[in-house]
Amino acid sequence: MTLKSRSAIVTGSTSGIGLAIARGLAQAGANVMINGFGEADAIENERSAIAKDFAVKALYSPADMTKPQDVRAMVAQAEATFGTLDILVNNAGIQHVEPIENFPPEIWDKIIAITLSAAFHAIAAAVPGMKRRKWGRIVSTASAHSMVASPFKSAYVSAKHGLVGLTKTVALEVATFGVTANCVSPGYVWTPLVEKQIPDTMKARNLTREQVINDVLLDAQPTKQFVTSEQVASLVVYLCSDEASQITGANIAMDGGWTAH
Ligand code: NAD
Repeated sequence: MTLKSRSAIVTGSTSGIGLAIARGLAQAGANVMINGFGEADAIENERSAIAKDFAVKALYSPADMTKPQDVRAMVAQAEATFGTLDILVNNAGIQHVEPIENFPPEIWDKIIAITLSAAFHAIAAAVPGMKRRKWGRIVSTASAHSMVASPFKSAYVSAKHGLVGLTKTVALEVATFGVTANCVSPGYVWTPLVEKQIPDTMKARNLTREQVINDVLLDAQPTKQFVTSEQVASLVVYLCSDEASQITGANIAMDGGWTAH
């Protein structure tokens, strides 16, 4: 399987799952534009490591996924620099854990913006070129929370369910143009996003750190193991291959059996 001559954007790829996806796509031969926040030196190290390790072009876009004009400019920049944008991975995401009655409205807006509206703007900007070239792959990182809910995650669960609806709609619109749109839905993956929600979950549920890890997070996963970022990345790389051309409009779980409950 090769993605040589393809070019990709992976949003939210300065850490965690997104970084693993960017490296996975580069390993398969694609040029990649990484995106996300973080310390400038650390981001430059990640960018240059991708270029060096896999002999591809690697760019960084500081686009803020809460800003529609940034999202659309990021797509235009990738097309201008790489010549084409063949693969779009909507992966940026944040979490907030709080009961609905205290859930800050501005955090609701931010989660919907980063997870759902940014995907809308990026897809809308990327699709014309993909349709013209009759080849494209759109993959969005949803979550087990796109299929089932957990308490205290109203914005996240709503946004991820919405992302699946957006993906199905786009899949139908572009089906005859060689373009596919799918979601991957991991269960718990040990990344900064999961680590950061532990203190809030301790507070919301009055539990210790160990209780949150074993009785809340891994309790949901029958395998009792975290998914790895690299496992998610390998599924995304497969969905971007020619072999996966008939998978579209799908939401594929990788959750250790969580949503089989
Ligand atoms: P992470 O916190 O390690 O990475 C999130 C990335 O998004 C970072 O690169 C961050 O800089 C970027 N980001 C945040 N706000 C941004 C903004 N406004 N603009 C641009 N980039 C922004 O988290 P992760 O666990 O790797 O999560 C990646 C995706 O996977 C998210 O969509 C998340 O919902 C999803 N997911 C994670 C898990 C898990 O257990 N970790 C499970 C299911 C789904």
